[in-house]
This record gives sequence, C-alpha cells and structure tokens, in this order.
Amino acid sequence: MEINNVTVAGSGVLGAQIAFQTAFYGYKVTVYDISDAILEKAKITFNRLSTAYKEDLKATDHQLETAFNNLNYSSDLSLAVKDADLVIEAIPENPKIKMDFYEKLSKAAPLKTIFATNSSTLLPSQFAKSTHRPSQFLALHFANEIWKHNTAEIMGHSGTDPQVFETVVSFAKSIGMVALPLHKEQPGYIVNSLLVPFLSAATNLLVEGVADVATIDKTWMVATGAPVGPFGILDIVGITTAYNINKMAADSTKDPLKIKTVEYLKTNFIDSGKLGVAAGEGFYQY
Ligand code: NAD
Repeated sequence: MEINNVTVAGSGVLGAQIAFQTAFYGYKVTVYDISDAILEKAKITFNRLSTAYKEDLKATDHQLETAFNNLNYSSDLSLAVKDADLVIEAIPENPKIKMDFYEKLSKAAPLKTIFATNSSTLLPSQFAKSTHRPSQFLALHFANEIWKHNTAEIMGHSGTDPQVFETVVSFAKSIGMVALPLHKEQPGYIVNSLLVPFLSAATNLLVEGVADVATIDKTWMVATGAPVGPFGILDIVGITTAYNINKMAADSTKDPLKIKTVEYLKTNFIDSGKLGVAAGEGFYQY
C-alpha cells in the first residue's frame, strides 16, 4: 500500500492546513470542496499559511513553491478522488453530512483508496458501514495549526485492517507529524481525554469560588513547570468550544455544577464577545 496521491475533502480550518502540510511534504494533493467559490477562498488560506510556514518553520521560497505546485483543486468528487491513494475527510462535524459524504465517496473512489476521518468527536465505527470498505477506514486526527502542533492521532475501529493502520501511521510521520497510535476507539482520542476533564476541573474551581483565574493558572504553572495554565489554554482553544462542551454535558447530565458553569461562561464571556485569544480578550487580554 503506497501513498502518493492524497485528496483532502473539506477546505475549511483544518482541511486547508492538512492539504498544505501534505503538499509541503511532497505529496500530490487534490483539494475537494462543495463549490469552486469555496475553493477560491482556500487559495487565500494557503497564501496565509505560507506566511506562517515562513515565520514558524523558516520555509524557503523554493519549498513553498513546490507546495503550491503540488496542490490541485476540484469541486467534482469523482474527479477529485479518481487517483487518490488516501482521502482525508475534514468536512463539518455533523454525522448526517459525514454519512452522506461517505456513501457518495465509496462509489466515486477506486477500490484501493484508504479513507481517513479527521473528526474530533465522532468515532470511526459510526461511519464504517457508510464507507462500504470498513477495513480501509480509520481516524487520522490532527490538531489546529498542524505545522506547529504536529500531533496525528491514529485510531481505527474494530474492523480496520492492521496494514492500513500501519500505512497511515507511516504516512503521518512522512508529513512531519508525531504519530500517536491508539489501540482502540476512544471518544476524544488521547488529547481530549486528558484535556477536557483538566479544563473542566479548573472551571469547577473558579465557578465554586475556590480561587481566581490567575491563582489557578499560577498554581498549575509553578507546580508542574507548564508554560500555560488551564485558563490560558481555554483562551487559546476558544471559549465558545468550552461553552458548547459544557452545555452538552449540562443538558445530558443536569448536573447543577455544569449548569452553573454554562451560565457563568454565557454571562461573563459569550454574551460580551470575550471569546479568547482570537477575539483579543477572554480570561486574559491579548
Ligand atoms: P470548517 O467548517 O472550517 O470546514 C469544513 C469544510 O467542509 C468547509 O470548507 C465546507 O465547505 C466543507 N464541506 C461541507 N460539506 C461538505 C461536503 N459534503 N463535502 C466536502 N466538503 C464539505 O470545519 P473544520 O474546523 O475544518 O472541521 C472539519 C473537521 O475537522 C471536523 O470533523 C472537525 O471535528 C475536525 N477538526 C477540527 C479542528 C479545529 O480546531 N477546527 C481540530 C481537529 C479536528
């Protein structure tokens, strides 16, 4: 199983980054999205990314030119996947949209093509049937700003072929990722299985009035040597995401502390647009 041609489906926040990183590392990449107008926007994103690669990775003009030359674009699914050895799906985190996509993709892609989902919260077993090739399907999960935060969590479902799994592990390494194989399905993979309870413990301390933001962060940073504390992390992740995760937990568990946390985040942050680093203010000012 050799990977030469990669198609990235979805050219939004993560899809654009995955496509650019893969092209930067020498693969032929076809970027697929639902319209040509959206693909034009992706080209603007790639220009922005190339500036970040120059600043953060000291990428040369020659390397960036090669990356751009490796990128192709198509809004026609059959054309976009006709030569694909690997399709990386980075379309919206919506089970129905993903399921419909895999049904169409299974008909359009050659039999050899491996499918990988970048889904953050959905499990590959949810879509295995829709792919009509479950043994060639797994999750390949990147983190935002993949050129800097270069983790690639690789997670199969019970029917994933071990050889396919190993092929994707090697592919991830070949595009500059630290490959992190999981031995079984786990909602949230490794990173969010650690991060979500950690951030939730920090907001509990705050909402219960145990200590203030700066003290909680300082405790963590001084005690462990970490460069940033939980509220600093929440500002980077974005408070909207934290709000959505807590809201889902509050709605399903009716836990009074979770409900209090949701109200706290809504009143103090969401309603006033203090959404984190990207908004210029969250728990801290930027
Ligand atoms: P996004 O909304 O920025 O981009 C989604 C893209 O998919 C858009 O360009 C949209 O036009 C396109 N799209 C919609 N329907 C499509 C279809 N049927 N076929 C092809 N393209 C379609 O979303 P995102 O933040 O890039 O997230 C994409 C996936 O990556 C999600 O599964 C998400 O969980 C995962 N992810 C996101 C992050 C993050 O930080 N944003 C991190 C890791 C994983």
